[in-house]
Amino acid sequence: MDKENTGRVLMKKYEVGRLLGKGTFAKVYYARNMMTSQSVAIKVIDKEKVLKVGMIDQIKREISVMRLVKHPNVVQLYEVMATRSKIYFVLEYVRGGELFNKVTKGRLKEDVARKYFQQLISAVDFCHSRGVYHRDLKPENLLLDDNGNLKISDFGLSALAESKKPDGLLHTTCGTPAYVAPEVISRKGYDGAKADIWSCGVILYVLLTGYLPFQCPNLIDMYRKISKADFRCPSWFPSDVRRLLFRILDPNPSSRIPISNIMEYPWFKRGFDDKLFKKKAKQKIDAGEVVFDSDDNDTVMAGQEMGKLAILNAFDIISFSARFDLSGLFEEADHKREAIFTSDLPASAIISKLEETAKGLQLKVKKNDHGTLKMEGLNISERGILAIDAEVFEVSPTVHLVEIKKIEGDALEYEKLWKDGIRPALEGIGCAWGMSK
Ligand code: AMP
Repeated sequence: MDKENTGRVLMKKYEVGRLLGKGTFAKVYYARNMMTSQSVAIKVIDKEKVLKVGMIDQIKREISVMRLVKHPNVVQLYEVMATRSKIYFVLEYVRGGELFNKVTKGRLKEDVARKYFQQLISAVDFCHSRGVYHRDLKPENLLLDDNGNLKISDFGLSALAESKKPDGLLHTTCGTPAYVAPEVISRKGYDGAKADIWSCGVILYVLLTGYLPFQCPNLIDMYRKISKADFRCPSWFPSDVRRLLFRILDPNPSSRIPISNIMEYPWFKRGFDDKLFKKKAKQKIDAGEVVFDSDDNDTVMAGQEMGKLAILNAFDIISFSARFDLSGLFEEADHKREAIFTSDLPASAIISKLEETAKGLQLKVKKNDHGTLKMEGLNISERGILAIDAEVFEVSPTVHLVEIKKIEGDALEYEKLWKDGIRPALEGIGCAWGMSK
């Protein structure tokens, strides 16, 4: 989709408008949902480029999680669509432009900078708690809404941007390494949470001063400065913020301050209503839709069929449609029912709970070592024996994603078993649910 696509209708649902911006691997367009008139932003990604990325599983899990969680300071992912050659992420439209357009006009007042920093940290903390790391926090990813609130874009998608640069040189395509943690530059392999915290420190510095902490005419000198955290705070910097910055911009990731401690700093806490954030950041319990197209000509699925595909995410679609035979997928969707949820229990506890639930429902259980569980009914119906697969994926050590789907058997029998047996039994262990209709 390019300039000439402005005015084009996508999936009979979105009227595509002007180009809003170009990212490292995508173009972002304004669009309007023709049924609801809601404004959205559509990020268009070239599928070829994504297929070359070797991190499909990780990205897939991150997107699944992002579709299940919601935070007021994270740009929401509404829907994922795909054609043979493109993937479309339908996102919350954020009207106020980039935060850094404000900073280029000069430094912000301390209270204003603190407000943005609180919103940034709150959102980053929330995503980390769900096992999603940004890894590429930088000015272009900080947008402002109509009410002047910060919205981080690309959470859960940035693994794509990053993996496009496997040498770790995040700067080559995004212009500057200035926000990148020293351990990322030195390619040691790094902890995504710690790297994000570093970037938040650089952002805080920029908000307060209007310029970068590590700025050099050449990259080698800049790397040198970053690796030693060689920066200076101007003399007018309040001492409490100076202390906090030195704890965040610690070149050693293992002694770098964790987010929980940043939130304990009196400077950070001033005017920060933790409860408000927690309340607003309630988890989203809905399906989210995934729609895909048989080719670039926008042949659209009927509404009912779309619902059945709801749980597929962009990367399922890529892996299926790479074979260019989409018809099989539609048929399969007919007798396929899936549910997905996240849990903060350890994988072993989730598996035990699934096993116990299955046994309680008189299902035969087969377990293997890779976090999968097969359940089978005892009765043979016209459609054969009911077979259900459950799979547990680790998103992070504290967050797991569980997928449950019917493989064979009667749809009605499954629906009843699901509604009256499986779902209520698992209610207590699921943090966020999404399911096909
Ligand atoms: P990105 O690929 O996310 O870096 O996006 C490139 C540019 O598109 C951003 O710098 C913004 O100017 C614009 N943009 C991205 N996402 C949105 C959005 N959800 N709403 C409005 N503008 C956006």
